[in-house]
Amino acid sequence: MEELDLVIVGGGPAGLTAGLYASRAKLNAVLIEKKGPGGQLLNTERVEDYPGFASISGAELAQRMEQQVRGMGLRIEMDEVVCIRPRHDRKLVEMESGRQYLARAVIVTAGGEPRKLGVPGEEELVGRGVSYCAICDGAFFQDQVVAVVGGGDAAVEEAVFLTRFASRVYLLHRRAELRAARSLVERARHNPKVEIIRSCLVTAIHGVDRVEWVDLVREGRSERLEVNGIFIFIGFVPNVQLFCGHVEHDRYGYVLTNQNMETSVPGIFAAGDIRSQLTRQITTAVGDGTTAAIAAQHLIERIPEKVMEGYP
Ligand code: NAP
Repeated sequence: MEELDLVIVGGGPAGLTAGLYASRAKLNAVLIEKKGPGGQLLNTERVEDYPGFASISGAELAQRMEQQVRGMGLRIEMDEVVCIRPRHDRKLVEMESGRQYLARAVIVTAGGEPRKLGVPGEEELVGRGVSYCAICDGAFFQDQVVAVVGGGDAAVEEAVFLTRFASRVYLLHRRAELRAARSLVERARHNPKVEIIRSCLVTAIHGVDRVEWVDLVREGRSERLEVNGIFIFIGFVPNVQLFCGHVEHDRYGYVLTNQNMETSVPGIFAAGDIRSQLTRQITTAVGDGTTAAIAAQHLIERIPEKVMEGYP
């Protein structure tokens, strides 16, 4: 079992930024990523809301961030963290491979996954008309027709947001009643570009290179709805399963932190999409990663170098 100052879990913008500040502080740190650095950036076709880049592909931005931190000497390892637990004044980090690290602090930037519809065509057309982020991708649908799936606050709010670009937005919900706040539903109902279609199920998404139409079942009848894109907002699932033991979270499962990004477990920090916060953007993730790394550095400086007696 190797001893380290810091383990960073996840290699999206929050984790890579935490790695950047950890490297600058000369911490003995490792970043562990299961799929390859970039996180959600790798699912984002084009980024137009990251300062300094008028337009850049998600993949290129991820590659630039990775190159920068590797150039600064950050150690990046491919593995999956399966459990993080406190051990005296350290944290034990266990990985799928069976390896273990003992760290003075851990920053968890494991993000989460948008809940998937699980219909044919969804996975194949991600980034080509299927999207889980209106702020990221809405501008690509200027004067086009899009569908939004879901009946919660996110679906209704984003349907209204998408009318800034799209000529028509169909809001497709599986029940007759929308779950979203009444004020949001009223805004959607009064927007002439939004058409709410209730009690309908999306059963498939079709298109050759891009989304062209979706299949619906409405009141037992099958229909075809022609759209250029489909935005799916049926919930987001934060990756909190790697905390072995209780960590305070909000009622949606997002991890609660203080202003230093520290969770309810001292020495375990959280940054990026896994964290309870107003919005989840690349810019907020890098801000969280910065704060978490600097706060972790201050904490690490207070923890004795020598592992406690009688350990572990
Ligand atoms: P949510 O409230 O859990 O709503 C998810 C919606 O997706 C529900 O309408 C649900 O339908 C539908 N759904 C779930 N699985 C589905 C499936 N397999 N097929 C079709 N539809 C499916 O999630 P959310 O809208 O992402 O919001 C998450 C939390 O963040 C909410 O509690 C919300 O209040 C909060 N939020 C707040 C704001 C705001 O205040 N401005 C904005 C965004 C989010 P049913 O209704 O039939 O279950």
